Amino acid sequence: MTERVFNFAAGPATLPLSVLQEAQEQLVSYQGMGMSLLEMSHRSKPVEEVIAGAEENLRSLASIPDNYKIMFLQGGASSQFSMVPMNLLTPGGTADHIVTGNFAKLALQDAQKVGDVRLAGSTEEQDFVRVPLQEELDLNPAADYVHITGNNTIYGTEWPTEPEVGAVPLVSDISSDIFSKPLDITKYGLVYAGAQKNLGAAGVTLVIIREDLLSRSADNLPAMLNYNTHIKSNSAYNTPPVFAIYILGLVIKWLKAQGGLERMAEQNMEKARVLYDALDSSEFYRGHAEPGHRSMMNVTFRLPTADLESQFISESTENGFNELKGHRSVGGIRASLYNAFPKAGAEALVSFMKDFERTNG
Ligand code: PMP
Repeated sequence: MTERVFNFAAGPATLPLSVLQEAQEQLVSYQGMGMSLLEMSHRSKPVEEVIAGAEENLRSLASIPDNYKIMFLQGGASSQFSMVPMNLLTPGGTADHIVTGNFAKLALQDAQKVGDVRLAGSTEEQDFVRVPLQEELDLNPAADYVHITGNNTIYGTEWPTEPEVGAVPLVSDISSDIFSKPLDITKYGLVYAGAQKNLGAAGVTLVIIREDLLSRSADNLPAMLNYNTHIKSNSAYNTPPVFAIYILGLVIKWLKAQGGLERMAEQNMEKARVLYDALDSSEFYRGHAEPGHRSMMNVTFRLPTADLESQFISESTENGFNELKGHRSVGGIRASLYNAFPKAGAEALVSFMKDFERTNG
């Protein structure tokens, strides 16, 4: 099969075709060197240039100032659930976590194994249809940091703006919304994101940290779990996931060529609006997220019955709309519309949804 389907997967997710094609062209003989990047030493000049180039382009794409350090790590975003508290909790200190979905909950559970971490707000009782309002938060002004999840991949909600946390460093898991819109890094102490949604292939996790926070990491942390180890060695303390960093670099270049993050935000809003308008104008489909807290990346909705949902998934797949099944923990339908997903795919899905409703509604 050479024709590409509309891939609505939540991650790993659709990538820009030009990125895949460039990687394919370069796979066997990288830049005419007679060997693949997959075969090169991580101490070689071309690999060092791949890592340095990815960082440089990322800094310019998102206007990351020099007092923020960038790391390309392994272990997925999930490893950051414990690595953040290991590095940022001070002796006797506490952290506040806000729980807005499944991954936020996992982050809290892991952090609580590391140290004294409080639940400072949750919308679990509201079935995660929104994030908490500022007045619902119970924040400790003396906390070492506040942890949020920027976009809730499973429930399809996103923080419309960051919560007010005063002088306490804000930490965000932005795995599923990174670079879908401008990122004002100066509002954060640390952000992290697994690459397999908006940044490329699985295997690399981006961490951006404000420099002053690096002094918190205790010397008795194992080397691989100490941010300073990775900063000092430019993300090559051990063998880094070179190919995943290479793909990330290509995606960043692609984002720049698209016109940057403001342009991505406009496009993503237009794409998501196509689907949300369809949900709002139908009695048959029911969106999960509350307006105002809706994700631009993951649009989640239900049909009147579980049987109709199964039928919808199988018929949509037959029609070239892949991976629309909601996460196993919540069911329903989820259409993920990451940066590389085309607007034509959202429009085609809406047309399929209207036909489906006419036949089965
Ligand atoms: N956080 C969020 C918001 C996610 O969506 C995911 C994965 N879907 C994770 C964390 C876990 O990421 P990983 O698989 O890279 O550990």
